[in-house]
This record gives sequence, C-alpha cells and structure tokens, in this order.
Amino acid sequence: MNAKHTTLAIEAAALLDRLGVDPAARTGGSLIARSPVTGEETGRLPFASVADAEAAILTAEAAFKAWRVVPAPRRGELVRLLGEELRAAKAELGRLVSIEAGKSVSEGLGEVQEMIDICDFAVGLSRQLYGLTIATERPGHRMMETWHPLGVVAVITAFNFPVAVWAWNAALALICGDAVIWKPSEKTPLTALATQAIFAKAAKRFGQVPEGLAQLLVGAGDIGAVLVDSPKVALVSATGSTRMGRIVGPKVAARFGRSLLELGGNNAGIVCPSADLDMALRAIAFGAMGTAGQRCTTMRRLFVHESVAAELVPRLKKAWASVTVGNPLTSQALVGPLVDGAAYDAMVGALEAARAAGGLVTGGERVTDIAPDAHYVRPALVEMPAQVGPVLEETFAPILYVMTYSDFDAVIEAHNAVGAGLSSAIFTTDLREMEMFLSAAGSDCGIANVNIGTSGAEIGGAFGGEKETGGGRESGSDAWRAYMRQATNTINYSRDLPLAQGVVFDIG
Ligand code: NAD
Repeated sequence: MNAKHTTLAIEAAALLDRLGVDPAARTGGSLIARSPVTGEETGRLPFASVADAEAAILTAEAAFKAWRVVPAPRRGELVRLLGEELRAAKAELGRLVSIEAGKSVSEGLGEVQEMIDICDFAVGLSRQLYGLTIATERPGHRMMETWHPLGVVAVITAFNFPVAVWAWNAALALICGDAVIWKPSEKTPLTALATQAIFAKAAKRFGQVPEGLAQLLVGAGDIGAVLVDSPKVALVSATGSTRMGRIVGPKVAARFGRSLLELGGNNAGIVCPSADLDMALRAIAFGAMGTAGQRCTTMRRLFVHESVAAELVPRLKKAWASVTVGNPLTSQALVGPLVDGAAYDAMVGALEAARAAGGLVTGGERVTDIAPDAHYVRPALVEMPAQVGPVLEETFAPILYVMTYSDFDAVIEAHNAVGAGLSSAIFTTDLREMEMFLSAAGSDCGIANVNIGTSGAEIGGAFGGEKETGGGRESGSDAWRAYMRQATNTINYSRDLPLAQGVVFDIG
C-alpha cells in the first residue's frame, strides 16, 4: 500500500468515526471493502451469518407489530428526524459515497440529497395514506378501502446507488408502518454502516422506536437469499441485475410473497430530424458517460435519424474524445472509475463482440496512469450497423451504441426490441413524434422523456421499468402502495341484510 492509498483508507475511517460508526463494525472481518477510486482496501467488515439473518427477521417481526399501531403521522416524525440527520451528515456521507462507489463529489452529494428529498416526500405522505369510499349497490351500507401496514420489508441494494435506494424504500416503508431489513451490496458496505448510524441518531431522538425496526445485514447474496426465502418477509424490494432478479422473483413468488424488482436497463435515445442538436448532444453525453456508465438509467443505445447523423455523430465523437477521465476525489473529471476488474472485463468483452458484429469503436481504452490498481476507462462510442449482439444486453460500463434510422415507426419498434424496459428519451420538436413516443404505441419503458436524457430522475415521480427491468415502482407518485396491504370494508348500518347481486338466502 503506498502513501496515497493509505491516505484514502484513513479518510474513510475518519468519516465513519465522525458519523458514529463503531470501529468494530469495520475492522477485523473478512469482507474486504475497496474504493474503486484507487483499488485500495478501506475496511474489513464482519459478515452477517445465516443465524444473524434469521434472528434479524424475528426481531423485525416484533418491531413491526409495535410500529404498525403507531399513527402514521407520528411515524412520519421519525422520518422527518432522519431527514434532519441526513442534512447534518450530507458532506460526510456524500464524500463516503464518492470514495466507496467512485462517484464525482457532486454526484456523491447528490445521492445524499436524494435521500433527504425522499424523507421530505415521505413525511408529507404520512398524512395522506388514503383509500377510496366506493358507492355500494346495497341500501344502508357503506363500502371503503383501507391501507394497512404490510410487514417486514427486505431491501436488497446494488453498488451503484449504495444509499439512495435504501432511503427510497425505507422512508416509505417506515411511514407505511413496516419494519426494514437492509442487505446492501457487498461492494459498498461502509456507506451502509454510515447510513445505519445516521438512522440510529434519528431513532434516538425520536425516543420510542421498537428495537430492530430498521436493521442492517452486511453480507453477500447468500444473506439476501435468507430474506428472500423467509415467509416472514412480506415484501422483498430488490435492486440489481436482471440476473439477480431472475433468481429472486420466482423464489418470492413461489411462497406468495410480494416482490418489488428494480433491475437492469438498456436505455435508448432517439434523435429526430427536428431535434435541437446542441441540447441533445449534452443530454446524450451526460446520459451515456455520467457515473462512468454505471447508472441503471444510463443511455446505452442511440438511434439518430439519417438526415442529422452526419452532423451529430462527429460532434458526439469529439465529446467522447475530449471528456475528462480521472480521480473523482481529487480532480474535476467528469468520468470516474469502473467499480472493479469484473466490470472492466465485461466492458472489454462487449467491445470485442461489438467489433465482431461490425461495430466501429471510438474510445474504450483503459487509462492506467490514474491509479494502477483501479479500473479507469475512456468511454466508448460504437457505431453499429444494426441492433445485434451486445447491443441487446446491458453492459454496466460507459458504452454507447449508435445506429441510424430512416422510418419513425421502425425506430420505435427497434427501440422496444430489447429485454429491458427502464428508461427512454426522444429528442424532437415535432409534436406528433413526441406524442407518438409517449403514447400507448410508443416507448414501452417505465420512464419516457422528451428532450432530456434517460438518467437523473426526481423522487416525486414513480421510478421503475417494465419487462426484464422487473415491473416495480419506487419513490414518488403512488409507489407507497407496494409497502401496504389493501383491505375492502363493507359496513351495514341498516336493519336489513340485503345480499349482493340480489341473491336470496332466506333461512327464516
Ligand atoms: P447485483 O445483481 O450483482 O447485486 C445486487 C444485490 O443483489 C446485491 O446486494 C447482491 O448481494 C444481491 N444478490 C445477488 N444475488 C442474490 C440472490 N441470489 N439473492 C438475494 N440477493 C442477491 O447488481 P450490482 O452489480 O450491485 O448493480 C448493478 C445492477 O443493478 C445493474 O444491472 C443495474 O442496472 C441495476 N440497478 C437497477 C436499478 C433500478 O432501479 N432499476 C438501480 C440501480 C442498479
């Protein structure tokens, strides 16, 4: 370990100390935490055991039973305090996100801001967990629906949004009256420890939080699997690859549990003849290269109308060639590292396959002079003759496949002809094209944007995607309903007992 590496490990430890994490939770274990920024080790955490996971589920079940009867606005007060603690810890936690996930400083802070935003949203929502009152066919009756707390919610998260995804789930689950068990990515355990310590501060201020209401289990997929298999876990909210979702979804379904799956994306943009090309260029560059291509909403495919390709594609190539790649902590570079060597290998493999399928690759080289043990790459732009091979899959790295099109209906068809269905964007000033793209016959994704890129969603809208993206919705709009169970209540305030559908059952 050289001196520079030592400095980063010490910084992570100091941040964790300041955030109130017990040093025993980050030392002496066998889960090695590493920073993608330098590749250096930043902690050694004890793995949770299967017995720990089983005990956590029992404690969470007891906590749920106590929490579900606390009035929802009072539950909101806990989330309000969590938001306050996150505001106070924003600088430290944001920095830790940058160290552990390799994000730029502003993206690290932005991730914590997203946590704060969802807390604010959830606090308001804690007074709006409403159901309908519905007209009944029977005289002297009233019919209504009620939303009740659901149970224990397992939150399994991916490395690339190491803390925001927990907050999207936990803030809503807590106001909905549920208990939460978090299994973070094994690649980003330190930020999870920090977040748990921040929650503990809010819980202490609140004063009456049942023990085990929000727990953390540090471990890999095997610990996630204990949560997935347990009939005591009412909802499994799992964010990660489609590969993971293919395992988790059927297991939860087999025990009739509820799952909320937020899986991979293969997001595309369409640049139409009337597009504002300056705007499209910036949106495409951020969407495809930001966070080094490691967002679920990263733009991975681009369809450019043949009438504007000769102007736009050279400008894109120029942007790709000039974008700064560097250490996100010590430079203003726009593109930071890949998370690890496996991500780099996947990128190399995808580019090889693209070349074999006739793709013309610009960029994509490894950058070795930033930190020898880290994996920095120049973003790749690949001009493809057709949508084949690696273009059909998500490779979690900065690769943008560019294709041209001539016919609008055909490009919508091509846009939808991949397994994933998360995010999409059209660049046009033509009203008809815009409305077609947003219509029932247009983009088949959970997110469809006009004149902005595919990434950078706000918490106010429901977030998630269709098809192999898993179908779940998190965050804003009415996503809260996934964390509650619905009951339909019919009340008879008459002196008769009329049966529905006019059925007669006269025992007198
Ligand atoms: P991953 O699938 O490797 O891991 C995600 C989580 O699942 C980790 O916590 C892991 O330990 C856990 N896991 C793995 N196998 C499991 C099993 N059998 N049972 C239970 N848990 C298991 O994903 P990753 O590499 O951390 O993240 C990148 C992927 O996540 C990309 O595909 C990206 O598109 C996706 N992602 C999706 C969203 C979304 O909202 N749709 C958001 C962020 C990331």
